[in-house]
Order: sequence, then C-alpha cells, then structure tokens
Amino acid sequence: METSKYLIVGGGMVAGYAAKELVERGLKSGELTIVSADSAVPYERPPLSKGFLAGRDAEANILINTPEWYRDRGINMSLNTIVATIDVKSRQVRTASGDNFGFQNLLLATGCQPRKLAIPGNTLPGVLYLRSMCDAQNIRSRIAGARSAVVIGGGFIGMEVASVVAQKNIETTLIIREDRVCSRVFTPEVSSFFERYYSNRGVDLVKEVSITALQGKDTVQSVLLSNGQTLACDLVVVGIGATPVTSPFENAGIDIENGVVVNEFLETSQPGVSAAGDIANYPDSLFEKRRRVEHWDSAVSQAQHWARSMTGGRQPFVHIPYFFSDVFDLSYELWGDPVGGSQVVIRGDTDESSFSAWWVQESRLMAAFVMNRPDEERQLAPEWIQSRKTVSAAMLADNSKPLQAAA
Ligand code: NAP
Repeated sequence: METSKYLIVGGGMVAGYAAKELVERGLKSGELTIVSADSAVPYERPPLSKGFLAGRDAEANILINTPEWYRDRGINMSLNTIVATIDVKSRQVRTASGDNFGFQNLLLATGCQPRKLAIPGNTLPGVLYLRSMCDAQNIRSRIAGARSAVVIGGGFIGMEVASVVAQKNIETTLIIREDRVCSRVFTPEVSSFFERYYSNRGVDLVKEVSITALQGKDTVQSVLLSNGQTLACDLVVVGIGATPVTSPFENAGIDIENGVVVNEFLETSQPGVSAAGDIANYPDSLFEKRRRVEHWDSAVSQAQHWARSMTGGRQPFVHIPYFFSDVFDLSYELWGDPVGGSQVVIRGDTDESSFSAWWVQESRLMAAFVMNRPDEERQLAPEWIQSRKTVSAAMLADNSKPLQAAA
C-alpha cells in the first residue's frame, strides 16, 4: 500500500483546485493522490448546466488541469474508484474494490449527489439528472433529437437547464412545487422578473404542482401532474436538490451533521482529516452561523484554503458566500446571506434586466443580488458585507445617487 503525504477523496473541483494550489506551493512528485469516482479528471462544474450543455464548450475546455498536468507533476490520480470506508487510526482509505490508500493528511471532498424523484416511472430512460460531465453529455445527446422537454425543479439546475433547452427551440415546460422560482434566494420581485423573462423566451412555467408519475413504454413519454394534467415530452430533467455524500465516513469517528462538521480551519473531529466543498459544514464567522455551501466559489476557495493550511499557512476560513448564474442572455451574482435580511431594497428597474437587490438588517448589509449594474455595485457589495458596513436603506433605494452615498 502506498502512503501519500496528501490524499484527497473525491475528484471534483476541490481536488482540481487543491492540486493546483499545492503545486504552486512546491508539491513534490508522489506527495499527492486523488481518489475519484468520476471517469474524468477534475473539471469545472458550472458549464455543465450552461455552455457545455449548450454544446459551446468541449470537454477539454472545462478541465481544471489536463491529465498530463497531473502526470507530469507526479500526482497519482485514481479514477473510477469508489471509496467505501476510512480508518482514521491506521490512516487508510479502503475502496469498494478492496484497494487501500494510506495517508498522512486527508481531505474529504466527495461533494453531493442529486436527490432522486421517488415516483412511478422514475427509472425510465430519458429521465435525467445533472451532476457529472457524463450526465451533461447524456442530456446533450437526448436534447439533440427532442421536440419537447419537461424540467422539474425551481432551483439552479431547473432554471439553467430550462434556459439551455428552450434556446434549442425545444418546447420547454418548467415544473416547480413552490409558488415562485428560486424562492430560497430571490425576493418575490426578483422571482417575478425571471418568470416574466422565461415566459417571454417561450418557457411554460407550471407552479405549485408535484409530479405524480413519469409515463412511457421504453422511454419517458409523458409526465403526470398532481393537478391531473398530463404533459407529453421526449425527455425529463430533474433538478430537485442534492445531498452530501458522507456515507463512507459515517463509521470513522468523524462528526456528520448536514455534511461533514468542520471547525474554522476546515478540520474535522479527527486529526489530520479536513473537508471542503459541498460536504463541509463550517462555522461562518461573518454571519455567526454554521453553513454548507453548494457552489463553485466555495469549493474553489476552500480547496485553496486547505492547500495553504497544509503548507504552513493555517488560518481560519473567512469567506463571503457567493454564487453566480447565467440564464438566456442574463448573468447575475449574489453575495452574502439573504436569510438574515429583514428589509430588501431594489435599485434599478425590475421591468428591465438591470437591477440589484440589497438585503438589510438593522442597517447592516446582509446580501446583494446584482445583474447588469454599474461596476461600483459589484465592487462594493462584497466589500460592505465583509466589513459589516452601516448602510442607509433609504439612500440605497435612491437610484438618482451613486451607491457610495448609502454608506
Ligand atoms: P437547488 O438549487 O437546491 O433547487 C432544488 C429545487 O427543487 C428547489 O426549488 C426545491 O424546492 C425543489 N425541490 C426539492 N425537492 C423537490 C421535490 N421532491 N419535488 C419538486 N421540487 C423539489 O438544487 P438543484 O437546482 O437541483 O441543483 C443541485 C445542486 O447544484 C445545488 O447544490 C446547486 O447549488 C448546484 N448548482 C449551482 C449552480 C450555480 O451556482 N449557478 C448551478 C447549477 C447547480 P425547496 O426550495 O422548496 O426545497
């Protein structure tokens, strides 16, 4: 059995960016092993529901580092390898096929897996989920010959996939169980803007319904809704959330609760074992609460943070939650945590595609959504959230003044 100085379990974005950072900080040949269930070396996940799905990006364009990059730096990459258990005491990881990998320092980065619809017909061909590059390729080939599609879920996958599919001139229906899209992060006004936008771009939105069954003979052909409606379709894409992959660590003495529980240094309850990315439930000192973030930026920042900690720069992880999305010809970003904001101020015009939303709690800026706004707003939003700047909601709302005037 080989023992590595660093072992990363999970071959997603965390692994790709951690490897990059370790190399920049002097990693020697043979020091890093990555064990990955995926068949491809680590790639960027955001394009899977955007440019890659649309066919604009090729596989090679979305890799974080090429296969040769790992090989030339002596990084051992074990693909198609599923980790079954971890023995922290003997410092070994055991795979489903019975191989063992030894480690001095272990990073858990297994990410999430899609939540599945538990209804009749859910295993029919043409009922598709999106997580891996292979999933995106399957959806891509399925939409190539499709005339109509049903997309289920009013979150990120639902919104992004519906926009890609509709732009292929496929009749697209987006089904959500809530009364508005992205209700967890958007205000009612922002949801309403996107719903109008989608409708103008030809997406049929069906709200407040659930799926009763998926129907078809050899492949999915229709979706039966709780309101009795039946929708004919050539494919179904399901985006109803994701759950952290923690089962291999459950008997390893590692605290698991809504993911892998880590401290401010991203360290688990076991020495020399850290976690990063979608699975890491970490204390967010900026908002004084624990959180688990399932977005690209968090995976990248935590990967880099862990690599810096391993090479002499052990610091608490302090980071503003951030995500971005691209749908149709719109791009937006969100910083902070809207959950804490009791008052929301809109700047710009929600009838146009240029506006921002600012969540304020007792004069403290908690979160900001920004779409097609002056650069000042993109720059100041994270700065003010991080520095707990006192802002005036009334001045924020005054569109005639630059944002700067609100602080
Ligand atoms: P998501 O963003 O969490 O959205 C899931 C949606 O499905 C929510 O609206 C949820 O409603 C709804 N839902 C949950 N269970 C349901 C059910 N049984 N039937 C119908 N609707 C149901 O998750 P996602 O869109 O599936 O994306 C998966 C992961 O990929 C997430 O971690 C997401 O952050 C990540 N992702 C991120 C981006 C980005 O950052 N731009 C893009 C793509 C994917 P409730 O809110 O009521 O639970």
